[in-house]
Formats: sequence, C-alpha cells, structure tokens
Amino acid sequence: MSAALERDSALREGFAADASGLRMVPDAIARPESAAEVVEIVRECASSRTPLTAAGGQTSTTGASISDAGVLLSFRKMDRIFDVDARARTVRVQPGAIVSEVKKAAAAHGLLFAPDPTSEESCTIGGSIACNASGARTLRYGATRAHVRALTVVLASGETVELRRNPLEKNTVGYEFVHDPLDWFVGSEGTLGLVVEAEVALLPLPDRVTGLSIPFASEQEALAFVVAARRSPLSPRCLEYLDDLALGLTALGHGDRMAPLGAAAAVYCEDAGEDEPDLDAWLQLAESHAALGDEVRIFEGTSALREAREARHAIPATMNERGARCRPAGGRKVSTDWAVPYARLGDAIAQARGHARAAGVEQAVIYGHAGNGHPHQNFIAADADEVKRIERVVEETLRTVIAMGGTVAAEHGIGKIKRKWVGLQLSPMQLGAMRAMKRELDPLAILAPGNVL
Ligand SMILES: Cc1cc2nc3c(=O)[nH]c(=O)nc-3n(C[C@H](O)[C@H](O)[C@H](O)COP(=O)(O)OP(=O)(O)OC[C@H]3O[C@@H](n4cnc5c(N)ncnc54)[C@H](O)[C@@H]3O)c2cc1C
Repeated sequence: MSAALERDSALREGFAADASGLRMVPDAIARPESAAEVVEIVRECASSRTPLTAAGGQTSTTGASISDAGVLLSFRKMDRIFDVDARARTVRVQPGAIVSEVKKAAAAHGLLFAPDPTSEESCTIGGSIACNASGARTLRYGATRAHVRALTVVLASGETVELRRNPLEKNTVGYEFVHDPLDWFVGSEGTLGLVVEAEVALLPLPDRVTGLSIPFASEQEALAFVVAARRSPLSPRCLEYLDDLALGLTALGHGDRMAPLGAAAAVYCEDAGEDEPDLDAWLQLAESHAALGDEVRIFEGTSALREAREARHAIPATMNERGARCRPAGGRKVSTDWAVPYARLGDAIAQARGHARAAGVEQAVIYGHAGNGHPHQNFIAADADEVKRIERVVEETLRTVIAMGGTVAAEHGIGKIKRKWVGLQLSPMQLGAMRAMKRELDPLAILAPGNVL
C-alpha cells in the first residue's frame, strides 16, 4: 500500500467519530493534497480490494463519514476555492472547502452560494454535494443539487470523469436517469465515486433580508400559519418551526430574543428581495392564526440576522452535546429527518407525538424546515436500551409518514444509521435498480461500504 497512508493510532482515533454518536476506527488514513493523489489511492485500494470511505468535515449525523474497515480518505487538505467567475456566476472549488468559506468568497463579488446547511461553518462542499445538503433557505433556492454545474469524479476503478450539467431542454435518448450522470453522484454518500472538484452556481445576493420570529400560543396554530404563508403571495425564503422545547434551547444563550418565555411555539420567516418587506401583510397573516402579535421579533442587518441564525443553530448543537454525554452508557441523540407534503405537517407532528406518548418516551425537541414539511425530532437516549425504545417509536412514526406520502430522510441522508429504514420507503424494484448501478460503478464494492445499501 501507498506511503501516503497513515496508521498512527491517535490519528485514526481522531477520524473515528462524526455527529452520529457512532465510533468506528479506520485501519488507515489518507489525506491527499491533489486529485492525482486521490487517483493513486483509489487504484491501490481497488487492486488490494481495500474498502475506502470519503470524509469531509465529518458532520454527518448518520455515520456516513466514518468506517472501521479499510481507509478513511479525508479531503480536508484539498480545500482551495478558485477564482469566482462573477460574469458566469460560478466558482470552482476543491471538495474540502468549507461551505461558509465558499459563501464568503461569493459574497465578496456580491453573489450568494445558496445552500445553507446549519452546519455550514464546519461542513465541506464535497460532503454537502455527496449528501445533497439543504437548509432553511432551501424553501426558495432548492437543495445543493440545484446549484451543482459540473463535477470531476474519481470512480472506483481510478478512472477520472468530467461531468457537466446537461443544458438540453428536450432529449429522448435513453432512459431519463442517464441524461445527467452528474446527478448520480449528488446525494450518493460516497458510494459511487469521489468528488475531487466541483463548479457550483451562484446567485445575486438579495438587496435586503428581514427576519421575523412569530410566537404562537399553540403548535397547531403555528403549523397552520406555515401552510398559509406558503400559499400566500409573501413568498418567504424560509419558514422554520421551533416548538416550546426548541425555544427553551435558544433561550439558553439568547434569552427571549426568538420568542417570549413560555410561548408554545414560534415560526421564523425570512423575507428577502429588492423592496421593503410588507410587514403589515405578515402581521395580518400571523394574527389570523392567533399569533402573539405584540411579541413578534424583527431581525434586520447582518448582525441581527447572524444572531437569529446562531440561536437556531444552538438547537442541534446543544442536542448533539447532550447526546455525546450519554455515549459512555451506550446512549446518544436519536434524530429524525422525515418529511411529508408540507400541508400535512401539523397532522404528522401530532401523530409523531402520539407514538412517543403511547410508548412512554419523553417528547423530542421538534424544530426545522416546516415550509418544506420537514421537521427534525431530536430525542436523547440515556443508554442503549433507550436507543432501542426510541428507535421503535421512530419506526412507527416513519410508517405514518410514508402513509402520508412522505420520506424517511429528507436532508441528512441514510449513512449507516438509517439504512434499516430504506426498505420502508423504496420498493424491491427501486432497490434493485440502485444495486445494479452500484455494481456497474463499483463492482468490487470498495466505496463507502455500509452506506445507503
Ligand atoms: C449541528 C449540525 C447541523 C446540521 N444541519 C444540517 C442541515 O441544516 N442540512 C443538512 O443537509 N445537513 C445538516 N447536517 C448534516 C451534515 O452537516 C451535512 O450533511 C453536511 O453537508 C455534510 O458535510 P461534511 O463535509 O461534514 O460531510 P461528511 O460528514 O464528512 O461526509 C458526508 C458524506 O459525504 C461523503 N463524502 C464526503 N466528501 C466526499 C467527496 N469529496 N466525494 C464523495 N463523497 C464524499 C462521505 O463519505 C459521507 O457519505 C447537520 C449536521 C450537524 C452536526
């Protein structure tokens, strides 16, 4: 094997965890500095049939970027952001570039890299492409996939392919899924190829952004407001839900900045554009859903908007810390990532709470991307037994969600933790097609074993 592999045990331990709560120590670490080095490592792994798992910022919540088999290939040394092409509104990047750094580089040219996973300060562009990451503003801008223009991918054979998004508006050659092979790699969680360079699209930065945090006296009123806001001409760029427990977490560091203490729920909206926001229309809509109208918080300007974002980020960050404290007893944070058609979210959350209540499990903190019908439920399992009890509740919830036309994972992917639930959603025909594609692109099954399939 290549001298580029490092086997020092402290180093291997340093790459053994992501944000899932799992711990897997790889046999060796590779930290390539160029695409040519990646090719060399992949070729050696292929010839010795050694498993190879890619890692970016290792913020995966599903164990996707850790492995206890073979080589863990970290892209963190390949973090260059090449020149922004302001005219074409694109930027080329290496996979290890941190998402918030790409955003800063774009902003210096008055441009926006739109995908906004809450983990953007620590996750990489390669990991975000491999997970098709999304965030609060996906409501307006779409997930990462929509912003990928071109990829350079090293296949499991060591061959390098250059893929550019197909610009055709009409095409009848072959099955639809072969029209844009670039899409195979977005969201494939490192199982089909390794992204060694990407060109992503940029948008003009909005002239003005106004945040509104609207508190409510009941969860169902708040969720009905979300549906009404989506159907209104207000066209928000995000509609984020925070239940009472989530508001309690934001209050730890930010007091009553997001909502008055004791509010049952809040919806955080962002209105962005050229003109001044129609605050009267927002307030009228809120009041027609029994919002606590006198307590609406407005966020304007960079530092106020950053504060709102930090308060929102405090929710998963605090729950991750609480979950980590339970690891010695075999516990962890158990988080869901399901979504339903947005109009059904109120019903889905009520039923999810019912499943927890019936099983005697403490209610999860519920927050997230309500505008896309996509909340997160974060449970804390104190020990291994509680993990099992909570996972039974989650599975019941997922069955309910699927019956509503939903998905078991809308944002964080499948990784290793959620693999057991893929069969609830995908038919044998769909799974067969995925396995056929995996066999075609990675016949020796060396890439990211245990992820997705
Ligand atoms: C506090 C917190 C908040 C989060 N919020 C969000 C959110 O709002 N939205 C969201 O979508 N996710 C969120 N996540 C999940 C995670 O941060 C994102 O999926 C993120 O985009 C992963 O990027 P990463 O660089 O950390 O990837 P990693 O965790 O290192 O890897 C993720 C997957 O990508 C593969 N991979 C990494 N680099 C490459 C590459 N170059 N080529 C091929 N495969 C590769 C890995 O093998 C793995 O399967 C959150 C996580 C945390 C801890």
